[in-house]
Amino acid sequence: MEWLGLHLLSGQPPEGMLLLDCMHNMFLMALSYGVICAACFATLDIGDRIIHVENQRSRQRWQVLGALCLAGGVWAMHFIGMLAFETPLPVSYDLPVTVASLFIAAISGAFAIRAISQEVLGPGQWLLSAIGIGLGVGVMHYMGMSALRSPAIQYYQPGPFGLSILMAVLCGAVFLLLPGYLRQGSGPFHQMLKYGASMLLGAGLLGTHMMGMWSLMLVLPANTPLQSADPENGMQLGLTIAIISLLIIGASISASMADKKLQSKEHDLRRVNALLSQLDEARMSLQQVAHYDALTNLMNRRGFNQIFAEKVTEHAASAGMMAVMFLDIDHFKRINDSLGHDAGDDLLKAIADRIRSATRADDVVARFGGDEFCILISLHNYDEAEHLASRVMSKMKEPIALAGRHMVMTTSIGISIYPQDGQTCDELLKHADLALYQSKGNGRNRLHFFSPNLKTKASLELQLEEELRDALQEDTQLQVYYQPIVDVRTGQVAKLEALVRWEHPLHGLLTPDRFIDIAETNGLIADLDNWVLRRACRDLGLLSGDGLENLIIAVNCSALNLTREDLIDDVQAALKAANVPARRLELEVTENALMGNISNTIGLLQQIRSLGVSLSIDDFGTGYSSLAYLKRLPLDTVKIDRSFIVDIPRSAQDMEIVQAIIVMAHTLHLKVVTEGVETSQQKDFLTQYGCDYLQGYLISRPLPLDQVLSLVQKLNVRKPVGVPSIEDSSVPSRGRGVWIQGPAR
Ligand code: C2E
Ligand code: CA
Ligand code: CA
Repeated sequence: MEWLGLHLLSGQPPEGMLLLDCMHNMFLMALSYGVICAACFATLDIGDRIIHVENQRSRQRWQVLGALCLAGGVWAMHFIGMLAFETPLPVSYDLPVTVASLFIAAISGAFAIRAISQEVLGPGQWLLSAIGIGLGVGVMHYMGMSALRSPAIQYYQPGPFGLSILMAVLCGAVFLLLPGYLRQGSGPFHQMLKYGASMLLGAGLLGTHMMGMWSLMLVLPANTPLQSADPENGMQLGLTIAIISLLIIGASISASMADKKLQSKEHDLRRVNALLSQLDEARMSLQQVAHYDALTNLMNRRGFNQIFAEKVTEHAASAGMMAVMFLDIDHFKRINDSLGHDAGDDLLKAIADRIRSATRADDVVARFGGDEFCILISLHNYDEAEHLASRVMSKMKEPIALAGRHMVMTTSIGISIYPQDGQTCDELLKHADLALYQSKGNGRNRLHFFSPNLKTKASLELQLEEELRDALQEDTQLQVYYQPIVDVRTGQVAKLEALVRWEHPLHGLLTPDRFIDIAETNGLIADLDNWVLRRACRDLGLLSGDGLENLIIAVNCSALNLTREDLIDDVQAALKAANVPARRLELEVTENALMGNISNTIGLLQQIRSLGVSLSIDDFGTGYSSLAYLKRLPLDTVKIDRSFIVDIPRSAQDMEIVQAIIVMAHTLHLKVVTEGVETSQQKDFLTQYGCDYLQGYLISRPLPLDQVLSLVQKLNVRKPVGVPSIEDSSVPSRGRGVWIQGPAR
């Protein structure tokens, strides 16, 4: 240790030498303790800053400030401690050596700060760093001591000397651990903990210094005269250094605190921003839920109304045109009833895609619920609306794969135009709805524009409902017409289908398509069907003479009636009242009605059949019933829908379908009726392929009771093989292939 100016000496000073007894000035010692505690506190605080600062440059600045605080504090503590050392000799300090010790302090301070700037410090790193810091502090201390100039010789006792180094290493180790602990937590307790830690560390470092001082022995040759040193000098210098260091440390602590506040404000601001954007997202998703349809992702009614209102204002300002289109998918209910709601949902999604793909990007497409859709488009001219509607309709007709089948769906469309058909959203929607109603009423798969006379029609419907109620009560306006169904094999009329008519005092004779829907939607259908049933049974009783004892009456039964338990009682009562055997009654039920609630329906149908009444499935082929269902139903007859007959013989596909239905029905031991036979080609085709019964204008239109008897007799007189045809008819015909022209339908 000689190179450091350290003379180690164990035991007593050499002979003839005098060991000086030195004291410490307690005030300066306390001051030095205060300085080191403040420095430790500042360094711990700055250490916390370094970890939390994200910007690399300000991190470096904090590191430099931290290193200066620590180094300055430790060095000041040491130097004030030295000044507190009172000897009976005048002492001075060698400036270059003192500055060099300050330099060493700065190096070890920087080293310490670098170490605590790490997020995690492995045990090896920790130990090495602690040794590094300890040695740094030790070197600074002993170098500082060696700057002391006096007539005395300095010796160091190895024991305390070693202990002082060990203590310095220990202080380094504790110093490295503290930031990790103090980083977590906040509040007054945490602050107290930080004060406590700083005081402990300060005590350790001061202890190191004291240990170093304790190891010092100042030795003088025995005859050297002793002089007292001027304690004032030391005091002044000590105070000056303490004040300067405390000022620097205080400024650093203030800077650190201000920065902390600023950072926490920034942090708060960031949190507020994050919260705001979360809130924004939540609002957006609420908006999505509130304004969009979850199934199709299209806008819902509410979303549509909002945009619609905006567009109306916009177009009012720019004097622009708009079209509102109401869409209703034709016979969608059948899909739901026959294939289930999941398939229905899939279909709706596919339909939504179709509509979207047929529209332009800035057109608004919405689903209003069920199978109702609405489109809003800006127009330049009237034709544009028609063009778009036609595009949607043809897009819709492309087959859709669903549940292993290919569906062809069609849609009915009603259109109203802004501004001519209405100025407000409500008015425009209502008018588009009226136009849609018109499209549906005219046989669906069409588009209609609103016209003011539709309004009159709508109010007419309302009125019709009232009047139908009265007509059912009065029993004078409703009538039943009969249409013959001929047995292909015998050529005789085997059955008569009962078809209701309404002799309206104002509108004349109304066909069912004008009022069945009204009856069904207003809860009148049960009464209406029951009335027809009783009247048909009564009329059959009247027709029973003249060799018509085996004539069967076929009565239509609405799907809605199949859910009524009283239906069986009604049937029994009607048969009984007319004194007609059950075998002469046939109920016609539509295909989709059967598919609704299959198990309930089967039960009800079985009960009806057990009475002896036969059952036929009407409009067959228009629904989506599977063969498996058909097998389970207690049926007697299948009535192939008119839509498959219309295009025969033009449509080879329809001909194939009809053949297939006949073969399938026969396999299931069911008879086949084909309705809507209008031409002899159709008759020939059906006869050839084994259809059992024919019904249609070719044979006769539906007629009132008073004309039926003569018609049936006329038909039965001829006994050709198959049915009579237009060629052999003596009755003048009118229109296409009509054999007997009845009165208005
Ligand atoms: P539907 O049961 O399919 O009846 C056959 C319809 O086709 C009848 O129309 C009939 O006049 C018509 N028709 C028959 N042959 C031909 C033909 O060769 N060419 C054409 N173009 N049409 C033909 P109508 O009488 O207008 O009845 C319409 C629908 O009203 C019936 O269809 C049936 O579903 C319903 N309906 C009729 N009466 C009743 C009833 O008492 N109760 C219930 N619930 N529905 C009824
Ligand atoms: Ca029918
Ligand atoms: Ca039918």
